[in-house]
Amino acid sequence: MKIRIEKAACVGNARCAHVSEALFPLNDDGYIAVDHVDVPEGQEQLAKRGARACPERIIFIEEE
Ligand code: SF4
Repeated sequence: MKIRIEKAACVGNARCAHVSEALFPLNDDGYIAVDHVDVPEGQEQLAKRGARACPERIIFIEEE
């Protein structure tokens, strides 16, 4: 699974990182640090939860 994040629209509330700091790393200012993530096998549900947790709705599942 791959996810895409519209990084420029991040408001830095860390809801995604609260679900998984490994999948959704934040930069020093508390904003999402990556715009693409290759989700390791077995972490798909966590990735989906992270996407749903983002109130800005800027985390998208690209490929199942
Ligand atoms: S949940 Fe969304 S808005 Fe909040 S830090 Fe993560 S990507 Fe940014």
